Order: sequence, then structure tokens, then C-alpha cells
Amino acid sequence: MKDKRVLSGMRPTGPLHLGHLHGVLDNWLRLQEQYQCFYFVADWHALTTEYESPKRIPTFSKELLLEWLTVGLNPEKSIIFIQSAIKEHAELYLLFAMFTPVSWLERNPTYKDMIQNLQHKDLATYGFLGYPVLQAADILIYKAHHVPVGVDQLPHLELTREIARRFNFLYQQEVFPLPEPLLSKVAKVPGLDGRKMSKSYGNAIFLTDDEDTIRQKIQTMVTDTQRPRKSDPGDPENRCVAFQLMRLYSSPEELAEIVAECKAARLGCVACKKCLAEKVVSALKPLWERRSQIEAQPHLFEEIIISGNEKARSFARQTLEEAKEVLFGTKWY
Ligand code: SF4
Repeated sequence: MKDKRVLSGMRPTGPLHLGHLHGVLDNWLRLQEQYQCFYFVADWHALTTEYESPKRIPTFSKELLLEWLTVGLNPEKSIIFIQSAIKEHAELYLLFAMFTPVSWLERNPTYKDMIQNLQHKDLATYGFLGYPVLQAADILIYKAHHVPVGVDQLPHLELTREIARRFNFLYQQEVFPLPEPLLSKVAKVPGLDGRKMSKSYGNAIFLTDDEDTIRQKIQTMVTDTQRPRKSDPGDPENRCVAFQLMRLYSSPEELAEIVAECKAARLGCVACKKCLAEKVVSALKPLWERRSQIEAQPHLFEEIIISGNEKARSFARQTLEEAKEVLFGTKWY
């Protein structure tokens, strides 16, 4: 499997939370054991929606890299890099833009959804319409065999495959393999209010929150709303948001005990959430320690990023040269 390449990225738009950890990064950690993985900070993608306040992007990018290393992404196993450090992405994006029909971009289902959801931002821009083309360049420049995606992202990957097909067809050479989706089973992480955990909903527990903040936040977490008193029997599996989070931090035996005690109205929500908070804190403690160790060695951190960028650039350059030679039929430039 190590000869198969996987590519994935994250937009640096703010601090990471438990949703990122269990919904994305746990999966990345598994993948790096099986595949040659390329993980990148998608800072140009962040610019498509954050162009009005771009000065925060480098800070968020650095923070993202720090958190990736903290959770265990291993630069010996994976190529970790910053998108904007590899200018070849931009050149391939430009070449792809020349033959990508606008109608393909306009029918992108998330395009209209995002414009609708982010009405406070003016997203009627050329960059935002074209971001799936940049995404195609990100993926195809590493000739990725697989891309980990959720079902909702399948149309994006299909667009990348269409662009690869169109290039191969127009210039009569199979330069780009068609990347396959890697539909991995990833944990769903509820936010404090029961909606999906998200910074913009204000319902997130961040990896950098301190112990007391985590305890306070978890005490506000929604439980079984049909159980106003401890003496009422609860239904943790079907009605309690805190229990959904508990599933990620407890053994099957512990969960069975909580279910039994809650259903028998012997366990109260305050005590139960206290126990959950302690579990979350002890799971995050080793990460905080590792983060301090990394922060104490800024040169090492910098070297890791420079080396990741170099490895990515060398691969990207080869693909871009190959694509240009096929496209122009010569190497004169
Ligand atoms: S006791 Fe625990 S599992 Fe039961 S409703 Fe309260 S928080 Fe949820």
C-alpha cells in the first residue's frame, strides 16, 4: 500500500477542536501507516473565504502544523507541507483553468450552499468559484491515488476526476491517474449544543483549551432533555448529547455501566459530565505535553516544515514539467 499516494489538506481558519481530532486527524494517523501520505495546509483555500482578513492565515497555518505534529503526524512517514510554498500548484491550477468549463463549477453543489451559509461574506468572486480547480491541481500534482472524503465531498472529487479525464483526453496522454475516494469510517463529534462541533457555532472544545475551560464547557453540554431530574430515568443512547461524546472516551464496559445507571435513575448528569470532563482532560494531557516539547524546539519545527515543503516541491515540479511537456509538445520554456 505504501506505493499508493493519499492526499488531504485542511484550511487554516482557526484553532483545532475535538471534531477535527476525531473526525479527521485520527483517520490521517491510520492512513499514514498504510499509504504514502501528503498532508498540506490549504492556505490559498483559506484565502478564498478569508481574503478580507488574510493576515491571520500565517498564524493559523503555523498553529495547524503544530497541532498536526502534536497529535502524532510523523514527518518521517508523511510529507507535511504548506500549499502556498509550492508555487507549482498555482501553475497547474492556471493550466487546468484554461479548459475547465464554467458550467462544471456553477453546478458544484457546495458552491451555492456556501454562498447561502456565509451570507456575511461576499463570495461572488472568481477565486471562490474556481476553488475546485485549485483543489484538482492540489490532488493531481501529486498523482494521488486516493483522497479521504466524506460523502458530501464526493462531487468535488468527481470534478477533479473530470478535470484529469479532460486533460488526458485533450492532450492524448494519461498524465493524471483518476483519484479514488477513500470513504473512511470517521467519528461524528457532537458540539456542546448537539449540532456538529464547529468553531462558527460556538460549541467547540478546542485542543488548546485548558483543564478548567474543558470542565466548564462540558458542564454546559446538552443531556437528555426529557430528564429534568436525577430521579427520572434517562435514555443516553437515543437522547443524550454528552453520551455521544462519552462514546469516544470510554470502554464498552464503562458505557454499559453508564447506560444502566442512567436508565435506572441512579446517575445524575452533573456527576456523569464531571466524569466525561476528566476523561477528555486525561486524553488531551499527553498532547499538551508533546506540544510544549515541540514549541521548545522552534528550529526543529522549522526544519520539519522546510523539509516537507522541499519533498512536496520536488514531486510537484516533476508532474508540472511532465504536464507542460505533454500540453505544449516541447520543453523549450
Ligand atoms: S446521566 Fe449521563 S448519560 Fe444519562 S442523561 Fe445525564 S449525562 Fe446523559
